[in-house]
Order: sequence, then structure tokens, then C-alpha cells
Amino acid sequence: MGNTISMPRKFEHLVEPLGMSNGLTSVFMEVLAISGSILAKTNREKELIIWLAQRDQSVVGIGTVGFEIEEMPWTIDSFEREKDFILHTISGAIDGLGWERLSYEPRKDWVIECLEHFHLMINAFDKESINMNSYLEWSEIEEDDDRPTIPRGYPKCEKHDIYLSCHFCILCNNGS
Ligand SMILES: [Zn+2]
Repeated sequence: MGNTISMPRKFEHLVEPLGMSNGLTSVFMEVLAISGSILAKTNREKELIIWLAQRDQSVVGIGTVGFEIEEMPWTIDSFEREKDFILHTISGAIDGLGWERLSYEPRKDWVIECLEHFHLMINAFDKESINMNSYLEWSEIEEDDDRPTIPRGYPKCEKHDIYLSCHFCILCNNGS
């Protein structure tokens, strides 16, 4: 039940896994997608947000979107910038950046507690733990795939102004 985000094993003594109920996970992903879509400037930053927005339980299944931090599409060349960007995105979400785009009123204290936990995880994660295959496998665009993992040109939802994943808009799909 629920979804768990965890660190690579060597860090687990530093930051314990983050377990969330399914409902809380949806809010968590949505506020990160909103904040990151407001803050992303480079294509790599947009891609990190698209990867998170792809963890949309309304499409891929309830309780199936947990992940390990090294599965995120980090790249070795720009890891420091990517890490800074994700930390900013989390801080933005904690500050309520764009939350008015949600059609519901989330339990703020619960979400913020999870976001703070996630912030600790990303902060502790290091370049040595990157698995470049995560990015390469995820971003590989197949020739005649009409729904590529990374939508071409990084389109945004017209209603919510957030980046679309291959599952379209995480806010539209969840009724906002
Ligand atoms: Zn939308």
C-alpha cells in the first residue's frame, strides 16, 4: 500500500525511506510538477520535471509510483545544476508556489513534511551514486513512437501551465 521513495542503500542510514499514502503521493507529485514547471529553464530541468509528472497514479496505477533517487534521470555532466534545481523545486513547493492551480485544498502540513523529507534525500544524494543508464533508457526516443517519453518541444498544459509527460497533464488527469 502506498508509495515509497528511497535512497541508494549506502545512504539509508542517513535518510530513511519516505513512505506516503496513495492520496498524499498524488499531491506530492502535483505540487512538485507545478513548482518545477515554474522554475525550469533548461531542457535538462524540464526533463526532470517531466519524469516526476510521469509518476501519475491515475494512469500508471495506484501505489506503483515509488522510486529510488538514483532512478531519477540525472546526468553526470550537469548533476550539480540538476540537484540545485530539484532542491529549489522542492523549496518552491514547500512555500506553496502555484498551489492555487490545484482544484482542492490539500493537507498542507502532511505534504510539507514529505517535501522536507525529500529535500533531505536529494541533499544527501551524490554524483557517485548516479546511474547514467536511468537517463539514457528513459530519454531514448524511438523512431516511430507517436507518444515519446519526453514530448517533443516540451509542451505545457494550456490550462495549468505545467509540462506534459507521455501521460499528458498530471493535474488534468487528477481533476484539477
Ligand atoms: Zn492540465
